[in-house]
Amino acid sequence: MGAALIDLNSGSGFVPGQAPAPPSLNDLIDAGLRRRAEREQRRTYLGGSRLGVECLRALQFEFTGTPVDPGREFSAQILRVFERGHRFEDMMAGWLRLAGLDLRTERADGRQFGFRTAGSRIAGHIDGVIVGMADGSPCPIATPALWECKALNNKSWQDTRKKGVTISKPVYAGQIATYQAYMELTDAPAIFTAINSDTMEILVEEVPFDPALAQRMTDRGVQVLEATDANELLPRIALSRDHFGCRFCSWQDRCWRLPA
Ligand code: SF4
Repeated sequence: MGAALIDLNSGSGFVPGQAPAPPSLNDLIDAGLRRRAEREQRRTYLGGSRLGVECLRALQFEFTGTPVDPGREFSAQILRVFERGHRFEDMMAGWLRLAGLDLRTERADGRQFGFRTAGSRIAGHIDGVIVGMADGSPCPIATPALWECKALNNKSWQDTRKKGVTISKPVYAGQIATYQAYMELTDAPAIFTAINSDTMEILVEEVPFDPALAQRMTDRGVQVLEATDANELLPRIALSRDHFGCRFCSWQDRCWRLPA
């Protein structure tokens, strides 16, 4: 086995004559999370949950697996936030069942319910469907209802409570409308639940099906597919790289090097 490489970069903590300091436990946890994220396969389809993102060019970069700008990869902290969202979803499912609801989150084979369309190039997996009360008693909501759950920090949660999901979180609203359409769950309003990850308060909102929004989402998806097939780059959303959306975009440098 070869000798371990010594990191001589400034800031590495290496002092000649002294053994290099071992990585901290935090560093090891972060490295483990990043390794796991790298192992996870990239999506080969356009996610139905993403059709409402503001910039179609960014969505095209995402769909085509275009590498993000150096240094813009998801940090280990963000990966932990993503995992928290999944865990909170499981908690919320448990609470809905404790309330007596018959909530279906998995098929018989243990996989999530979902849909594929456009030759399987647009797809999505839903959090669940509420089909009634588990004991057959009258259900307080119309069913079958799509269930979609998010975990939000306090500021985001308060904004959603105040304005409603459609105004406060248009990407989520687009996701809900798309899922209702393709899962044929359009008769009953969807049940959107959001957990305040700071206070653990719960927000429950009924979201009636919006066919025009669902159509707009589908049209956007088709636009991304068609442009990609034609080797065309979709236009930017902004005239300046300082636009708010661009400042937080993972492809900002690449995008602004390319033609408008
Ligand atoms: S930098 Fe701006 S215009 Fe370019 S892909 Fe990102 S959000 Fe869209």
